[in-house]
Amino acid sequence: MTATPDLSAIETMDSNDPLRHLRDRFTLPEGLIYLDGNSLGAASPAAFAELEIAAKDEWGSGLIRSWNTAGWFELPVVLGDRIGALIGAGPGQTVVADTTSINIYKALHAAMGLRPDRKVIVAEGGSFPTDLYMAEGVISTLPGTTMRLEGVHAQTIEELIDDSVAVVLVNQVNYKSGALRDMAALTRRAHEAGAIIVWDLCHTAGALPISLDDVNADFAVGCTYKYLNGGPGAPAFIYVAERHLGAASQPLSGWWAHARPFAMERGFEADTGIRRFQCGTQCMLSMRALKGALDIWDDVDLNAVREKSVALTDLFIELVEEKCAGLGVTLESPRDSAKRGSQVSFLHDNAYAVMQALIERGVIGDFRAPTTLRFGFTPLYIGYREVWDAATILEDVLRTEVWKDDRFAVRAAVT
Ligand SMILES: *Cc1c(COP(=O)(O)O)cnc(C)c1O
Repeated sequence: MTATPDLSAIETMDSNDPLRHLRDRFTLPEGLIYLDGNSLGAASPAAFAELEIAAKDEWGSGLIRSWNTAGWFELPVVLGDRIGALIGAGPGQTVVADTTSINIYKALHAAMGLRPDRKVIVAEGGSFPTDLYMAEGVISTLPGTTMRLEGVHAQTIEELIDDSVAVVLVNQVNYKSGALRDMAALTRRAHEAGAIIVWDLCHTAGALPISLDDVNADFAVGCTYKYLNGGPGAPAFIYVAERHLGAASQPLSGWWAHARPFAMERGFEADTGIRRFQCGTQCMLSMRALKGALDIWDDVDLNAVREKSVALTDLFIELVEEKCAGLGVTLESPRDSAKRGSQVSFLHDNAYAVMQALIERGVIGDFRAPTTLRFGFTPLYIGYREVWDAATILEDVLRTEVWKDDRFAVRAAVT
């Protein structure tokens, strides 16, 4: 085993970091170590500038004209293609719209419609809960449909897939542990059984280089407010493979999904392209903040992002295990970086209080019930020195047991 890097080695890592200059494109408070970009990405001057133009000039002066003159109406598909470029999707298959939860509903319902003779949805018992909640919603409209869950009905998702399965709904990166799935292999496995696969990319987009087109994915959905830094509640995206666009129909058939929205016809006729996965009028201000945030990605190589993400997460694991040995933390994330997304989770019996104490000390990660300390590493704005400092502060919080103070026990609504 090689020795754990010391501070001077860490400083060298920072000065050799090819992504280091990107830190200046973000607005982060001085002295704060922000390891929660996997929950809400950082703000940026680019996003603020877009927001201001959209609000003051386009809304303030352009008013209704801006739907045409400022490109508002087209923006969901324009930004969809830009996100498509970050997830390996050719143009015309991705649109920015609604929330991830709503897009899960649309994708799952559309996928069920492509396999009308089958009645089983396979998902993960350890899924981000909203995926399962939305699946319950879909099931409530399709009598006879049932759900099989990994970790409940079998140990692995692969064992659950047979020729009765209509859809496999799966998170590429587990939100809690950071465990990463092999997208190509699982997509192939689903297709061999004749099933459709829906990928939830909330913890993938902006963190990992993937190629939806190359792996032959069917549907995908994801957030833009996590690693893509679109801002709180920024609209989500949905990808539908071109080969499905003609036949896939989603049930939230609002006027923005219509072939001719401004013809004001009585009956619904879906657009033939990805617009059919929109519903109604989109939130333009949020979408414009996202546009600004996406501008930052123009010169970014996702392979370099992944390389740095692996280095940051490996370093954090190594430092925490060395500094905090015997202090009650155990690694929850896969140790093998090839099987891990851009986050590291440790288990601690009092994870909530420990995280509150860390936040008070200026290290923002988050807590996931019941015992997870979760740390997200966003290579665009996190450096190696911050990893060192975060591990050092965690050690101090654990060694001094400051987290035992009563003030850290009070739970807020959002953790
Ligand atoms: C963050 C996240 C969501 C969030 O869905 P919203 O509708 O935006 O609240 C959904 N799925 C996964 C896997 C997530 O990580």
